[in-house]
Amino acid sequence: MATAIVPDPELELAHPIEPASETTCCIVGGGPGGMMLALCLARRGIDVTLLEAHKDFDREFRGDTVHPSTLEILDQMGLAERLHLLPHNKIYGPTLQIAGVNFTPVDFRRLKTKFPYIMLIPQTKFLGFLAAEGRKYPNFHLRMVANVVALLEEDGRVRGVRYQGTDAQHEVRAALTVGADGRFSRVRQLAGFEPIKMSPPMDILWLQLPHLPGDAHSDRVMGGFRQGRLLAVFDRIDYWQVGYVFPKGQYQQVKAAGMEAFRKSIVDIEPHFARHVEALKEWNQCSLLSVEASRCPLWHKPGLLLIGDAAHVMSPVGGVGINYAIQDAVVAANVLSAPLLNGSVEEAKLAEVQRQREWPVRVIQAVQSILQTRFIGSALQTQSTLQIPWTVRTFFKIPILRDIPARVLAFGVRRVRLETS
Ligand SMILES: Cc1cc2nc3c(=O)[nH]c(=O)nc-3n(C[C@H](O)[C@H](O)[C@H](O)COP(=O)(O)OP(=O)(O)OC[C@H]3O[C@@H](n4cnc5c(N)ncnc54)[C@H](O)[C@@H]3O)c2cc1C
Repeated sequence: MATAIVPDPELELAHPIEPASETTCCIVGGGPGGMMLALCLARRGIDVTLLEAHKDFDREFRGDTVHPSTLEILDQMGLAERLHLLPHNKIYGPTLQIAGVNFTPVDFRRLKTKFPYIMLIPQTKFLGFLAAEGRKYPNFHLRMVANVVALLEEDGRVRGVRYQGTDAQHEVRAALTVGADGRFSRVRQLAGFEPIKMSPPMDILWLQLPHLPGDAHSDRVMGGFRQGRLLAVFDRIDYWQVGYVFPKGQYQQVKAAGMEAFRKSIVDIEPHFARHVEALKEWNQCSLLSVEASRCPLWHKPGLLLIGDAAHVMSPVGGVGINYAIQDAVVAANVLSAPLLNGSVEEAKLAEVQRQREWPVRVIQAVQSILQTRFIGSALQTQSTLQIPWTVRTFFKIPILRDIPARVLAFGVRRVRLETS
């Protein structure tokens, strides 16, 4: 049988290729989706190899909101208590400051769950925690600095990958390959999947401001609008994480106005930061995030499945991306563990994972799209003061309606549980 290599044309084959190793499931990408899938499969006794391109988990643009859905899954695995021993913050819902008035549309405290809050924990710590759990299983193999550059294909079926390590190129052969390599997924590109792109109308500058003596800790995500700008503020205990949101494509305009104008714009929205912004000196203290969202029509082909952002890039609105990637992973583990234990996975099983996960993704992306265009987009276009429509204010006062958004944010549109057998 001839093995066809689908290489990445941008990457030169710089090193010799080592003999192939064998595994049952090869997962590309050690983000929340890939890490959770690897852990779930390892717990079921399946041999799993997880390949992560970077040398550690410490990267920019990593959200850090662990929602009740994920905490419940971790609780099922007996890990929630230990996770709570790591330094974290809890937030009970976003508070928006609109026209000088605090508006709190979502309050998790009314939800029926053991974890009625979002846990804010640096993603690097969260992933490190899951990796440490995984390493307790001899059949869990995590390879860092393993940058996947090609798919191995045989008889129209994906049979594994080739990756660039520090020293050489290596091949991993597997019954199933999973692309969990995020929004710029190379696996998706190598497999020839074309995502349908949506176009959120905003970009974000992501920056940190210091916690100063006298700053009270906050259990809310704070947000405010003013003059076509939006600020989202998270208390990360040691510092304030700030997302400065502006209309798509206007970064050069923001920069051209100068650092002083930028600092002033932040203080105009959040006067409390008057002294904090003095720490902002250079543009390289801010990272530009081009907000994107997309969804692949097909998430699988024989021997290959995409999950998480590789299958559907989530906009940061609502901070649900990590949790959706984890839900994908748990559904994949539920559906695929038995076939993997038998050594082979029919494509129908991969289609079943997409069938269970695609519609919750579609629903939440539709909600994000409405919020982005009707609410955030129009707020970014207006220079005057934004008012909350009376219909919205009324909705959030009606007891049987007001908790629907909190439930959707906390658990998604379909509660996912880990099947243990
Ligand atoms: C600025 C910003 C803020 C966000 N904030 C939040 C938030 O607060 N809460 C939230 O829930 N979501 C947030 N999101 C979305 C969230 O980050 C993603 O939806 C989530 O990380 C997706 O998880 P994933 O495991 O699918 O992919 P990722 O987290 O992107 O992980 C993919 C992994 O694959 C690795 N990789 C890539 N290519 C290769 C390769 N060729 N070989 C090997 N490994 C590879 C990458 O290094 C990475 O570790 C935010 C997104 C952005 C951009």
